[in-house]
Amino acid sequence: MEHVDVAIVGAGYAGLATALDLTAAGRQVVVLEAGDRVGGRVWTRAEDGVLVDHGGQWVGPAQTAFLRWADRFGCARFPTYDAGTHLELWPGEAPLPHVSGEHPDAHDARGYDDLVARLDELAAQVDPEHPEACASLAEWDSRTFDDWLRATTGSPDALRRMRLVVQGLWACEPREVSLFHVLFYVAAGGGLDPLLGTLGGAQDSRFTDGADGPARAAAALLGDAVRLRSPVTTVAWDDDGATLTTATGTVRARRVVVTGTPPAQARIAFSPLLPAARRRWLARSPMGDVAKVHVTYATPFWRARGLSGQLTTYDGSAVAYTFDNSPADASRGVVAAFVYGDDYRSWSAQPAEARRKAVLDVLGVLGEEAARPLAYHERLWPEELWAEGAYAAVPTPGTWLAHAGGRREPVGPLHWAGTETAGIGNGYIDGAIRSGERAAAEVLASWTG
Ligand SMILES: Cc1cc2nc3c(=O)[nH]c(=O)nc-3n(C[C@H](O)[C@H](O)[C@H](O)COP(=O)(O)OP(=O)(O)OC[C@H]3O[C@@H](n4cnc5c(N)ncnc54)[C@H](O)[C@@H]3O)c2cc1C
Repeated sequence: MEHVDVAIVGAGYAGLATALDLTAAGRQVVVLEAGDRVGGRVWTRAEDGVLVDHGGQWVGPAQTAFLRWADRFGCARFPTYDAGTHLELWPGEAPLPHVSGEHPDAHDARGYDDLVARLDELAAQVDPEHPEACASLAEWDSRTFDDWLRATTGSPDALRRMRLVVQGLWACEPREVSLFHVLFYVAAGGGLDPLLGTLGGAQDSRFTDGADGPARAAAALLGDAVRLRSPVTTVAWDDDGATLTTATGTVRARRVVVTGTPPAQARIAFSPLLPAARRRWLARSPMGDVAKVHVTYATPFWRARGLSGQLTTYDGSAVAYTFDNSPADASRGVVAAFVYGDDYRSWSAQPAEARRKAVLDVLGVLGEEAARPLAYHERLWPEELWAEGAYAAVPTPGTWLAHAGGRREPVGPLHWAGTETAGIGNGYIDGAIRSGERAAAEVLASWTG
């Protein structure tokens, strides 16, 4: 049996951040990663000669923990393509043009803006680092977001716009998330507009060599301490430490930091059982349903037509949003298309050919070339074994109220990290890194002798 100071479960950004800080503090660590790569929900791959990010990809100016890593490891970035005209698709109408930062003056964009302002006002009452202290927690976590929306506006178009926001941020439907979680997350991201914005917002920039670059660089620094293909199946713990069983061996550690999505963590057999609050928190934290699809063309042909490649659909299409995801040098044209929530559930149940057709049909508004891609790659995140969904967990209504004590409170030698445990940056790579840094500090503070 191998003996270490701290065993870390998962080599996503949270686990790697934990390991870097503990190593810098002189602790001996091992990072046990189930998969055959580091990065977790950030997954860069060469697909038909083009690097694509199947998972997380963007970084924005407010995400300073992630930017610090990018700079430390010299990972180059470039602005998201945002020039030209965006299009909104509504049923039975010609595509509605608009530019970044503005809505078309139609379909109650003003009513939608009022909802955004109201949400920002309410979110200002939630401290993302101490959400449990919010005076309205009980009231807001007892209502679904859908309930609040319908009580706040009677405008069907403003509701449609807001439904797409919920899909885009939480990969679920308004009925599946509580008003409180929405407000917490908005507070954690610095406001709704910064979360939704492209240049200057959370979708500001991309990584020239893929968003897993900083993760790979961190893993290289950690060297042999990172063990791939080592899924942790059991954790037997007591006051002195824990014994972790993996497919490749057994590790004894004085402290353990567990990362990973709640469903992935819930598959680990802890002995003795974790406290009920922790188990309930995990059980009531389902992942969002999202597919990220990349469609590759010889060129970004839409740019020549003055189009940005950004589509927002309210016309019943499976695809909710698209972005121009071409490489920095535009040597190929790449569109990333996102499918979420109820649309994901019906789209993903169709045969592969029908799924592809549904995506290509939407892209048709960019030009007739859209029907003839060089390559098509889809990643269905609910089917990924070590994630079971994305972008992040969405606690069901009532979970914050009843089980927040199980969110990240250490249990004996066990500590919890991962973007789901973050305050600022919750749900994002930035939050994952911050959570790892917080867990490392917590472990060091608890060290005796
Ligand atoms: C499609 C998509 C788009 C996204 N877009 C963005 C974006 O543009 N910008 C952004 O900031 N964020 C984005 N995100 C979210 C972002 O990727 C995550 O918030 C972040 O990567 C989470 O990091 P983490 O370390 O907390 O968890 P993870 O990345 O999930 O890492 C956990 C690791 O633990 C491993 N693991 C799980 N169970 C075990 C076990 N039993 N034993 C050993 N190892 C285990 C997993 O394999 C994984 O490697 C996106 C995510 C997806 C999927």
